[in-house]
Amino acid sequence: MQQINPEQIKQDVPAGPLRLAVGRRKQAATDTRQQQRRRDFARICLLPAAYLFALYAFYLCGLVDSRVLIGAAAMLAAGSVAAFLLFYSRINLRATDKSLTALLASGMILAMLWILCQAPVTRIIFVPAAMLIMVLSAFRLKPFVFLMMGIGTLSSFSATVALQYLQSEVRTFPVLDLMQMLVFALTLPALLALGKRMRDLYRALHRAGIKIEHVQEDARRDALTGCYNRRYMMSELQQQKQLADANDEYLCLAIVDLDHFKRINDEVGHLAGDEVLRTFARVAQQHLRKEDVFGRYGGEEFLLLMPSTILLNALNTVERIRDLSEAQLWISAKLQRKVTVSIGLTQYIPGESILDLFSRADAAMYLAKTGGRNQVVVEEPVEAVQ
Ligand code: GH3
Ligand code: MG
Ligand code: MG
Repeated sequence: MQQINPEQIKQDVPAGPLRLAVGRRKQAATDTRQQQRRRDFARICLLPAAYLFALYAFYLCGLVDSRVLIGAAAMLAAGSVAAFLLFYSRINLRATDKSLTALLASGMILAMLWILCQAPVTRIIFVPAAMLIMVLSAFRLKPFVFLMMGIGTLSSFSATVALQYLQSEVRTFPVLDLMQMLVFALTLPALLALGKRMRDLYRALHRAGIKIEHVQEDARRDALTGCYNRRYMMSELQQQKQLADANDEYLCLAIVDLDHFKRINDEVGHLAGDEVLRTFARVAQQHLRKEDVFGRYGGEEFLLLMPSTILLNALNTVERIRDLSEAQLWISAKLQRKVTVSIGLTQYIPGESILDLFSRADAAMYLAKTGGRNQVVVEEPVEAVQ
């Protein structure tokens, strides 16, 4: 029999299931944020698409030639595919700005500048579009990057307009363009302040969201062992029953009860008894599939739900748990006995109530106790298919 150092148990056991839960929680949060970024990117793509549409209107009016239109469409397609690949290959996660806001915004502005150089008439849509890009990026960019981008956009636009003015044969002073630039320049500080406010709100919302997630996760967990608690197990039982009915799937339920736990408490005290419970929960969970749902029903009783599992496979699983419990739970030299478990196992009969399913598993567990403990008793429904 394997003997476990009690000090080692103190360090490892409570953190085990909880650490696992925290890890899963972090991964889920990363995945949700990445999905959000992809959705944001899809929405952002509407902006260059609208610009292209406006360009098409110019083309229909004979103000822009087809070469510029095709060039703009090619840039939009290439830029979208490149950004799409960055998001779907998760390369964006390596960047400090994971939404790639600066990259996308400057890419759009550069493309607009290229179009402006090819078709000076697009001046009238450049500034409104650039301002829209700045508004959308305001709360995602750092103030310095935002300012640099604003100044860069403004100076490239003015340089292009000035160059086009100098090169044109009919020289009409570009008053309207100057006014547009002035409005753009005056709007920048306001956008900067708005962006900061929105960033603060977004962060506060994000922190509140994380807190809610933690509270929700904690509400499902048993404080002592870190595995699921009774409330969660009962709702999961209800849900798994519905899934089994809807998909015509197998579902097995096991009730696991630690043997003579009262005596263990009497022998080594309640705190050491708690360690036994934690160790058992950890050992049991380490040997389950990810679809199995394991939790503490109360006291020294645990439930194990095994969806899409035939009775024979469920029996193998609980036999392994029984065997491991007997072999591994050995908390201190003070404990003069093996820690064993009695398990009642059954398979869900389609259409039966949760109460009936539970009662049959409980009856099996009771038989395991009266039959000498440290054993698994299967309550095999007539309909059970092996
Ligand atoms: P059996 O083999 O028939 O199941 O005997 P048992 O002693 O395990 O069962 P019984 O129901 O008589 O006693 C269960 C004991 O579990 C009594 C209670 O003090 C103890 N217990 C319940 N919850 C906890 C807990 O959170 N920590 C500790 N240390 N003990 C607990
Ligand atoms: Mg017991
Ligand atoms: Mg009990």
